Amino acid sequence: MKKYFCLFLSAIVLTMSIVLFPENSMTVEAANKTVNIVIDPGHGGTGDKNLGAQYNGLSEKELTLQVANALKAELEKYDNVNVYMTRTTDTLVSLEDRAKYAKSVNADFVYSIHFNASAGHDFYGSEVWTSAFGNGYQMGYNFGQIVGAEWNALGLYQKGTKSKVGNSGKDYYGIIRHCVARQIPCVILEHAYLDHGYDVPKVKSDGFLAKLGAADATAIAKYFKLKSSVTGADYSNYSYTSVKKPSGTMYQDETEPETCEIKVLSTDPASGNILVEMTAKDNQSPVIYFSYSYDGGNNFCYLQMWDRSKTTQSFNVKVPSGTTNPTIVCRCYNNYEKGTQSNAVPVTSTFNY
Ligand SMILES: [Zn+2]
Repeated sequence: MKKYFCLFLSAIVLTMSIVLFPENSMTVEAANKTVNIVIDPGHGGTGDKNLGAQYNGLSEKELTLQVANALKAELEKYDNVNVYMTRTTDTLVSLEDRAKYAKSVNADFVYSIHFNASAGHDFYGSEVWTSAFGNGYQMGYNFGQIVGAEWNALGLYQKGTKSKVGNSGKDYYGIIRHCVARQIPCVILEHAYLDHGYDVPKVKSDGFLAKLGAADATAIAKYFKLKSSVTGADYSNYSYTSVKKPSGTMYQDETEPETCEIKVLSTDPASGNILVEMTAKDNQSPVIYFSYSYDGGNNFCYLQMWDRSKTTQSFNVKVPSGTTNPTIVCRCYNNYEKGTQSNAVPVTSTFNY
């Protein structure tokens, strides 16, 4: 589908407002014992299926190793932490061998470092995948909230923390499944998309990979309440809001948002602006993007950030000068990338400005 550029950009919205369960407070024990952290740089080796995402001159298997190295260097500044890597060179390591290695070093947590891409090249932002089950879900979700705040501070849009179950009834993603089988919590950290214009300039900017590694290290230090006699950082009193341990399986959302309705509030032919009010709701997962069309749904703009603290919000659709009788149609997407199209609203007006 052809896209045109949207003139409207909403504010970046933090994922913190999304809590799946009633809040309760959890305290992780201060780090008086040594914590064993395993960093897993995703992909590696040769052959197409081992490279990871390859876009815009960026190679996922190389980026993951660079972030992992920066993460390790930063995390090792903290006291009482051992940091291990599942690979330190461009080599092929199977997902199960990565989990076996984590077990062999008695890992307290495995962080699998990745970058993202989508088939339609339309999504952007960061996301965290965690186990769909029990403690693994709870620990991964809690960590996801902490690291999401760090990434948000770097200007990345936060899609949130999710889980996905495969046909076997176990976790869909191999590294999580193999770690969970060994009673090791594991999250996949999808830092940014390599195939979208919102994220790529950030990923390519000077020092950004090191900043991502440092952000991950800070999140890990906060989660495990570490302190550093090197830098003076002290997270021993850090606290966060925990989700409850789920009693059942946390399945992925397979359905589109239930509600996507629009109305036109006003039109201004002199400026080209059409003020649209949109209501978007999904009972299972948050609505995080929206887009609009002024040609009846033939062409949609790039995905915009939806303020997920609201179910109804308004925005200006700017139509080009010379447009006559546009028809507005919108879409909303949840954080599993399922989209719903709105009703169409014809506007009887000629826009000349
Ligand atoms: Zn990957």
